[in-house]
Formats: sequence, structure tokens, C-alpha cells
Amino acid sequence: MTIFTKIINGEIPCYKIYEDELVFAFLDINPINPGHTLIIPKIEVDKIYDLDEKYYQAIFKAAQKISKAIQSATNCPRVCTWTEGFEVPHAHYHVCPFYHESGEFWSKRGSPISQEEMISIQARIIEKLI
Ligand code: AMP
Repeated sequence: MTIFTKIINGEIPCYKIYEDELVFAFLDINPINPGHTLIIPKIEVDKIYDLDEKYYQAIFKAAQKISKAIQSATNCPRVCTWTEGFEVPHAHYHVCPFYHESGEFWSKRGSPISQEEMISIQARIIEKLI
């Protein structure tokens, strides 16, 4: 079982942002910027492009909602989205606020922030989702 399936099942704690029948979203534990969110399918598939179309579409549908909520919650000029998958073999789509138009993306790795900050940004994003 992947660490992300354990998160979906509630066996590992997370800062949950969103859930529907097909996908689950939570804050990245090492955010590039506060609000950095991962959207995952509720099925164990490693590479995002190997997903069944309904899961693939559900990720993008959720990503649109969550991107707008993050932008509104953070006032960032741009929300960037991408997929890598080097670390966890369970497809995940990154959705993250950025504050500079260039240079920041590939030069900056994420790092932990305080629990208070995680709880605060989680609440602000969820508020904008409703
Ligand atoms: P990658 O597979 O290269 O896209 O990176 C995996 C991402 O998952 C990294 O940004 C990690 O910080 C994040 N991550 C790994 N474990 C957890 C966890 N338990 N909770 C939240 N995010 C995680």
C-alpha cells in the first residue's frame, strides 16, 4: 500500500483540502510555498498518464477548483500545476502558489513550515472552496 493510500484511508495524518468520489487533495508536507497541495486519485497507479480517463479528468476538474481557491486564499499572482512522481509511486498532481514569474520553479525545493501555518493556510483554502 502506498503512503498516499494510507493518507486517503486516514492511517497517516494530513492537512486535507478536498475530497470527492474519485480524488483526494491535501497539503504537501514540504511546500515550495504555503498552500502547495497534492491531488491524488483514489486508486494506486504510479504514473499519472496511466490513469483511467475518469480519474485523470477528475484530477484536472479538482485542480481547477483548488487553483482558484489557492489564488484567492494567498493573493499570489499565479498558481502553477505539474506532475513529477520521483518520490511516491502513487500519481499526484502538484498545485502551488508562486510569487515570481521565473526562476523560482526549478531552483527552489520545498521545506516544512510550522503546524500553525499549515493549519492556517488549510483553513483559508477550504474557505475559498466553498
Ligand atoms: P514527487 O513524487 O517528486 O512529485 O514528490 C512527492 C511529493 O510528496 C513531495 O513534494 C513531498 O513533499 C510530498 N509528500 C511525501 N510524503 C508526504 C506526506 N506524508 N504528506 C504530504 N506530502 C507528502
